[in-house]
Amino acid sequence: MSRTPIVTLTGVHKYYGDYHALRGITAEIGQGEFFSLLGPSGCGKTTLLRAIAGFEDISEGQVLLDGKDMEGVPPNRRPTNMVFQSYAIFPHMSVAENVGFGLRRSGKSAEEKRRAVGEALEMVGLAKFGSRAAHALSGGQRQRVALARALILKPKVLLLDEPLSALDKKMREVMQVELIRLQREVGITFILVTHDQEEALVMSDRIAVMFEGEIAQLDDPETLYRRPKSRRVAEFIGSMNFLPATVVGEGNGRVSVEVLGLGRTELDAAQCPSGARGGAGEVGVRPESLTILYEGQTAEGGREADGTVKEVVYYGDMTYYDVLLDGTPAPVRVSMRNMPGRKVLDFGARARLAWDPRSMVLFC
Ligand code: ATP
Repeated sequence: MSRTPIVTLTGVHKYYGDYHALRGITAEIGQGEFFSLLGPSGCGKTTLLRAIAGFEDISEGQVLLDGKDMEGVPPNRRPTNMVFQSYAIFPHMSVAENVGFGLRRSGKSAEEKRRAVGEALEMVGLAKFGSRAAHALSGGQRQRVALARALILKPKVLLLDEPLSALDKKMREVMQVELIRLQREVGITFILVTHDQEEALVMSDRIAVMFEGEIAQLDDPETLYRRPKSRRVAEFIGSMNFLPATVVGEGNGRVSVEVLGLGRTELDAAQCPSGARGGAGEVGVRPESLTILYEGQTAEGGREADGTVKEVVYYGDMTYYDVLLDGTPAPVRVSMRNMPGRKVLDFGARARLAWDPRSMVLFC
């Protein structure tokens, strides 16, 4: 990571009684980075966020914020601020009063506070809403008020615990773009907790994927998607087909694998995150990396395989096909963008598949 670290976590453990919620978290988060903690329910994301904020003592390890050890430092003395899932808006106050609430003990003059509130409201697109009663706001607007209230204190790190989960899909997408814009504008570090992989991919510079209190992989979205380090990460991020594969040769940075249903394929050694150990493994391939060949089309390098369409799921802009390749026990999922003039195949049709070996990942 080339950025200056603003959060440094070293061997962080957290026990709740006998329960080991965080199991040795080590990571650096950079200044100005949009960082996400992604994982299934109960993996420890919120616990880690609360440990950074100081709402949770850690059992072992070290949390540095801006280079300073945070042991024993209470939340209000840390350069962080948190936006909660529930927003915690005071309904009886106006929007401006809500946003200015954090400044009440700041020693600023009334004029300075008024200006700061105005700037914060401007930042979140609520400049005209200052005098509106907070209870008369939509979900998206409440979310903006919560953000303005957190940002007005000028934290170095903004911690966001599932901030969009209460919004409907459309509004969530709008707010995702807003949050990206806002983060770029203010330039401070955002750490987002989410269990929604799509949200993490859309918004983050880097993502830590967590399972059972550990970071399974920490990478930028594209690397996570293209080069997952384990089958578990691959399954959690997007969908992937897994085909039984046997390593039949290795040398000069290349690995030769025999993939059930697709035949022999040469891979780069970098496509084998668990190392090609010979013997049996699995090849992972994303649905969009498999293509159905239409009449007259041929695959590069003769990489073609025949099968039968077992399921058709039509989405308008694209279609998912489950295709049972000849000689294999389970179908693979193929996603095809729908094009004008290209017929959507029917259930039971024969289909010829092609693939690009560069899109494959070998798990041994
Ligand atoms: P979710 O997405 O459901 O919020 P999460 O990944 O944020 O999940 P955490 O809330 O960090 O998970 O919880 C991690 C584990 O620690 C869970 O099994 C949870 O039950 C447990 N846990 C959290 N807080 C406490 C507590 N105060 N006392 C005991 N166990 C706790």
